[in-house]
Amino acid sequence: MEQRTAPEPDDEKAPRRAGADVRRRIPRTDAVLRDPRLLRAARRLGTGQVKSAVHRAQQRAREGAVPPDAVADTAVALLPRSVSGLRPVINATGVVLHTNLGRAPLSAAARQAVREAAGPTDVELDLDSGVRARRGRTVLAALRAAVPAAAAAHLVNNGAAALVLASTALAVGREIVISRGELVEIGDGFRLPDLLVSTGARLREVGTTNRTTAADYAEAIGPETAFVLKVHPSNFRITGFTHAPGVGELAALGVPVVVDIGSGLLAPHPLLPGEPDARTQLTAGAALVTASGDKLLGGPQCGLLLGREDLIGALSRHPLARALRVDKLTLAALEATLTGPATPTAEALGADPARLRHRAERLAARLKADGIDVRAVATSATVGGGGAPGVTLASAALSLPERYAAALRTGPVPVVGRLEAGRCLLDLRAVPAPDDDRLAEAVRSVEGR
Ligand SMILES: *Cc1c(COP(=O)(O)O)cnc(C)c1O
Repeated sequence: MEQRTAPEPDDEKAPRRAGADVRRRIPRTDAVLRDPRLLRAARRLGTGQVKSAVHRAQQRAREGAVPPDAVADTAVALLPRSVSGLRPVINATGVVLHTNLGRAPLSAAARQAVREAAGPTDVELDLDSGVRARRGRTVLAALRAAVPAAAAAHLVNNGAAALVLASTALAVGREIVISRGELVEIGDGFRLPDLLVSTGARLREVGTTNRTTAADYAEAIGPETAFVLKVHPSNFRITGFTHAPGVGELAALGVPVVVDIGSGLLAPHPLLPGEPDARTQLTAGAALVTASGDKLLGGPQCGLLLGREDLIGALSRHPLARALRVDKLTLAALEATLTGPATPTAEALGADPARLRHRAERLAARLKADGIDVRAVATSATVGGGGAPGVTLASAALSLPERYAAALRTGPVPVVGRLEAGRCLLDLRAVPAPDDDRLAEAVRSVEGR
């Protein structure tokens, strides 16, 4: 039997409290749970979530906020949308790799691979022989094929983990030589020098903020040196009176050069000439390259280590490697990213500005016909996510009244735009064309609410 609160005397402070007879008419939990909509929801969301929605609906009825016969409807309305609190959104920010929106969206092929890997898989079993096999062997082979300049490859959970592993396995109690111009903070307080020092390595800083020469490195290198680290300043640019030696010059100094390229480009990108890539760095003499999987590579969050066989061997055999290893879903998504069709990130980067303008004009015309204050405008999009700082990409957007920003964010299909000069801009650069209809629908639904 449901617990019921004792009837309360009429109280001016609780005018909306339902009377005792109304409370008696509130249906019991087990009766509400027999509603077919809630039975279906329980299979999708689990009974705990559904019961919690029913309890909150009953509470609203007790408070007189909804009539007793609306408890089931109210519970349905209170159900969470999905088992996870993560909501899919449309990225209309004009930032291709938005860190707060999970960086790179996965390709359809990568999503499919994740689904297939979600059940039992042969991740560590050779099905032909029936014996244990190397975890991630196929994705590592795909990575090697994508970067022939790398003799070996290893995967960890993210770019930071790649640096931690390199530093721990190669430089504990020794020195990492690094330019003062490359002691960077990536974002949200994540400072690379702090991370490196936390592993027990010492930093030997050389040069100045704007200029560091090969001679500065050469002077600092000695018996204590584990490696020279070059870090790509991936989220800022220093221009003017600057100098940094190339990897080739540093490789000639006789110690391993580790290059943190950050964004994960495996080969040069025609639209991003200033962005370092793994192939070029390794060919120039880098012993190791580290990078993230979910930036310009367009894959899942992971960290790539590419380079010399002896160094990769030392890293992968280090006990810490086990703590940083990636799961099968990541392995699956990364392999599909490397071998499958172009990623959404690549498509967003390569989108033709004329085509974006055409889409914006078409959408604006449709929405204007519905009486919405909207126009198509030319914009500048960015790469974001710690890649290609200073690069702008010609783009197009829908310009809407400012109040749309919050309404779109909190709508049934959340759309995240950006505010510029008192208008809400929905930039199409990172919106896949097939999402245009959903975007239009989301804008229309703001007027209905
Ligand atoms: C993004 C970035 C990192 C950190 O990579 P995560 O995958 O976010 O851990 C490290 N170094 C550089 C240069 C970066 O751009």
